[in-house]
Amino acid sequence: MSTPCPSLVAMLNELIASPSISCTRADLDQSNLGVIEKLEGWLSSLGFRTEVMPIPGQPGKANLIATLGTGPGGLVLSGHTDTVPCNPELWNSDPFKLTEKDNRFYGLGTCDMKGFFPIAIEAARKFVDQPLQQPLIILATADEESSMCGARALAEAGKPKARYAIIGEPTSMQPIYMHKGMMMEAVRIQGRAGHSSDPSLGASALEAMRDVLNELVSFRQELQRDFRNSDFKIAEPTMNLGCIHGGDNPNRICARCELEYDLRPLPGMNLENLREDVTRRLTPIAEAHGVILTTEALFPGIPPFANQKDSDLVKMAEKLTGYQAQSVAFGTEAPFLQDLGMDTIVLGPGSIDQAHQPDEYLAFSQIEPTVALLEKMIATYCL
Ligand SMILES: [Zn+2]
Repeated sequence: MSTPCPSLVAMLNELIASPSISCTRADLDQSNLGVIEKLEGWLSSLGFRTEVMPIPGQPGKANLIATLGTGPGGLVLSGHTDTVPCNPELWNSDPFKLTEKDNRFYGLGTCDMKGFFPIAIEAARKFVDQPLQQPLIILATADEESSMCGARALAEAGKPKARYAIIGEPTSMQPIYMHKGMMMEAVRIQGRAGHSSDPSLGASALEAMRDVLNELVSFRQELQRDFRNSDFKIAEPTMNLGCIHGGDNPNRICARCELEYDLRPLPGMNLENLREDVTRRLTPIAEAHGVILTTEALFPGIPPFANQKDSDLVKMAEKLTGYQAQSVAFGTEAPFLQDLGMDTIVLGPGSIDQAHQPDEYLAFSQIEPTVALLEKMIATYCL
């Protein structure tokens, strides 16, 4: 019974003022413990049992599992505590100061997605004096925007356990039951430099890369032929050849060339199998050109996610929101929570259109309806 739990707006104010950027660039990456400690204080003052889970190998990063009530089943309300980096010079207000204007709350993380926590806590507040038949769990994760190490650590630890999970990413309060996965991969070729006048003096990494590009494009064509899901706006898996660097001078044989690409698999496609396929297809190219070729995952990747379209929670969310469940193009922590055995959807206030850009905001009009929706979900699955 430490910090008394403040009002919704006061909580939002404090969370926005507590920077928690996560970034693959170490110089921009920040701890999320400030956010975790605030949430822990507020939730324990409401009677939740709290567990701060440090992320192995990631100092300054932690998840929070806060549980009200006991029993089998139960409902998880999940959000990530981190934000992407921002460009304060492009904002019309201070991104780390909650600013009210035009019936909107402006600030970094207002919609993606610190704003979900005060809303979830506001909904939970109504139930703290009621005997819950099944637990309500508020889950706050680390580093969703960079490595998803928080969600991975939870999957590894096998917790939390519950029957249902709602991830409050900004979906304009429409239930999402499916998204593509995401991989970012590199191909690095090490050849041998030499004078350009005599090709036998070297082994061109660039010439080898030309064959790699062709092979990847053929692989893409095969994937797009074999996999298709018309519930997505872009029905095929995609592969984008994003950047390439190699060589230094026209009269030198190119000794090194590197390619980075992204691949967005559909549900039913396995990340590890895709990586093995790529490696197997590229190995003969390295042999033919006498170069060393390595493939590398730039991050562990986000698996695709698909719940049953007629799952209990999908149906309930459709009924309570009045929207049909949909697919989205962005990745979330949903596959990790689903792996823990939970009927999982993504459903939250604010629009993804406002995320990851200057003047991010949460419209006032999204707040009360989301509180009311979550109250109904808690009443359905915990009382
Ligand atoms: Zn997010």
